[in-house]
Amino acid sequence: MTGDETSSPLEKLRDYYDHEELVCPDCGYEDERGSWDSETDGGVVEYTHECPECGAVREHTLEVGDE
Ligand SMILES: [Zn+2]
Repeated sequence: MTGDETSSPLEKLRDYYDHEELVCPDCGYEDERGSWDSETDGGVVEYTHECPECGAVREHTLEVGDE
């Protein structure tokens, strides 16, 4: 493998959340057009997603490594 380092683990994880984790565990609604909002303070990234159907909010907090 050479060269292409554009997909960091963090980006892959975010991609995963954006595409695979938009099904609400409470009501089962799949928010196909939704996405996770992300906020970062430089040390951690907080992802939040609110279900448009039932309003349940989920959060993921990721620590940002320097890898
Ligand atoms: Zn829901």
